Amino acid sequence: MNTTKRILIVGGVAGGASAAARARRLSEDAIIIMFERGEHISFANCGLPYHIGGTIGDRKQLLVQTPESFYKRFRIDVRTHTEVVSINREKKEVSARNLTSGEEYVESYDCMILSPGAEPVRPQMAMPLAGERRGFTAQVAPDRTCLIQWQLKCTFAQPSARRRHGGRANRPPRFGQEHGRKRPTPAALQ
Ligand SMILES: Cc1cc2nc3c(=O)[nH]c(=O)nc-3n(C[C@H](O)[C@H](O)[C@H](O)COP(=O)(O)OP(=O)(O)OC[C@H]3O[C@@H](n4cnc5c(N)ncnc54)[C@H](O)[C@@H]3O)c2cc1C
Repeated sequence: MNTTKRILIVGGVAGGASAAARARRLSEDAIIIMFERGEHISFANCGLPYHIGGTIGDRKQLLVQTPESFYKRFRIDVRTHTEVVSINREKKEVSARNLTSGEEYVESYDCMILSPGAEPVRPQMAMPLAGERRGFTAQVAPDRTCLIQWQLKCTFAQPSARRRHGGRANRPPRFGQEHGRKRPTPAALQ
């Protein structure tokens, strides 16, 4: 009889990744699979505000582990861009969907750990600016990219900025050079 335990974990950031590492320490032979809907696992959410503000320049500094390093260190099968879409508690199975290929498949489990976090509340107060929303959330690293893109767009839409940049109102954002950029004016961020 196969006694190897299968442990499935939903969510791969603070709670999920900690639970996965702990499970491995408790059992050397368990099969541990961690599903993460997003792109990254185990990242430092608390560093995000510093990243948005430019204090932490390189996004990679927020990434504590990658799927590869997690496998190397803990032998945990990490499946990013994969969403657990349903759980069958009677059969002890989950259905997971690969968000890149759309493929859906079933995995069985002996133990399941749910660490799906929470969604930010989005108040209905976003106002249009050049056809865009002004409300952003800062929960995962890609959120920050959206916010910076919007800041830059506002900056370059300002008449003073147009003059500074020789009238090139739609100058494209300079990614990778965000530290050297002019901060958006308070008026642009209202
Ligand atoms: C900007 C910011 C700053 C913070 N600063 C601090 C701080 O300074 N100190 C502090 O103690 N805490 C801080 N926190 C809070 C801390 O980051 C959270 O408490 C912690 O991340 C919660 O971890 P979690 O694993 O429960 O959820 P999350 O970190 O939200 O992770 C849950 C993950 O589950 C994934 N998921 C959800 N559903 C599914 C599904 N069906 N299938 C697959 N994957 C799924 C999500 O994609 C998500 O990545 C901060 C949070 C933010 C956003």
